[in-house]
Amino acid sequence: MLRSAPASLPHLGSGGSVSQFRGYRVSPQTEPAPKESKIHLRDLSLLELREFVTGHHVPAYRYRQLVSWLYCKLANDLLSMTDLPLAFRESLDREAVVHASQVVSIQTSNVDATRKFLFELSDGSLVESVLMRHGKRATVCVSSQVGCPLDCVFCQTGMGVFGRNLTSGEILDQVCHLKGETGEDAGKIHVVFMGMGEPLLNYHSVVKAIRVLNDPEGLDMGSRRITVSTAGLVGRIRSLADERLRCSLAVSLNASSDEKRRQLMPALSRHSLEEILAAAAYFHDRSGRRVTIEYVLLHGVNTSREDARLLGKLVRGRPFKLNLIPYNPDKEGRFESISDEEIDRFVRTLLPDAPTVTVRRSKGPDIDAACGQLWTQSLARTKRPVQESRDSG
Ligand code: SAH
Repeated sequence: MLRSAPASLPHLGSGGSVSQFRGYRVSPQTEPAPKESKIHLRDLSLLELREFVTGHHVPAYRYRQLVSWLYCKLANDLLSMTDLPLAFRESLDREAVVHASQVVSIQTSNVDATRKFLFELSDGSLVESVLMRHGKRATVCVSSQVGCPLDCVFCQTGMGVFGRNLTSGEILDQVCHLKGETGEDAGKIHVVFMGMGEPLLNYHSVVKAIRVLNDPEGLDMGSRRITVSTAGLVGRIRSLADERLRCSLAVSLNASSDEKRRQLMPALSRHSLEEILAAAAYFHDRSGRRVTIEYVLLHGVNTSREDARLLGKLVRGRPFKLNLIPYNPDKEGRFESISDEEIDRFVRTLLPDAPTVTVRRSKGPDIDAACGQLWTQSLARTKRPVQESRDSG
């Protein structure tokens, strides 16, 4: 619960005024990064990359070599692509760059193997990505926007100033960099769009990035290994379903009634829970994939028996699985964490109606691993070289 505030959060104001203030747009446009003089190769779709190579009057197979350097060998430097002719490499190097983002800080958890990376983009904007390990399984949590225009009251990212949408190449840079960090023993990576931003507000770039992730010539990842997490933009969920991409969907519901959702996620109060869940069911119908319904557990706000009963009714008999996320506290202490007993009681109340319930255990609790926490600390920083820090916990 919000400390020093009643559970109904009245001081947060009405959904309408908050969302207007935050400037959330219904039909957001992709806002590309400021123009660089060089082409960012990971911004190109694989078709565009093929055309780019053909434009250099080299044999067509040079495209396959280049794409393998970009997405299999994860090269950073065009001149190091030694199976390409030197003249071609030099010409590429004059016109293009492999990546447009630099890692400026890394935090490593002492509690688990979680590592959090802060990237500086070509215009100086900062975004964060998290690499989590469960045995051999590595999960890469990527950002899709600089900050977030939504104003979910429990989320640290929404507290900062919204910057812009990332380009598809800036999203893929995060995946490639963290994939390169996973080490020899890692199995296949998983990518979740659960970092900073609302992926469906950056629809065009997110879809373009997923096409490269899906493509056998790109990262060759299927729907079990890619999850887009959305705060629940109904029209965009339906469009994503119609793209027929290979990806899974997670919807952050976070409330058991429209009224509570309006208080917790005011920018999206125009969509009722029923509309959101109907869109999620549509995604299942088109993709054949069960949709994950995410629910952040905020002690005293959305964790009562009544909340559990209502949530159970909402998901009963539908193609969903429930993922409960215990709130990861921020430094402002705006909400209280939930106890294990409270989680158990919530799950037991749900179980008759929601047969598949998982509880997501927080990763990297000592390194501010919740959405936006490293970023908000770093907004004021100036450029400096990569720093490795290991927090004492
Ligand atoms: N905008 C997207 C993706 C980013 S947030 C979305 O809303 O889904 C990714 C997930 O982290 C969401 O389920 C969100 O509800 C959750 N989240 C945000 N802040 C959190 C916090 N402090 N503790 C626990 N979960 C949090």
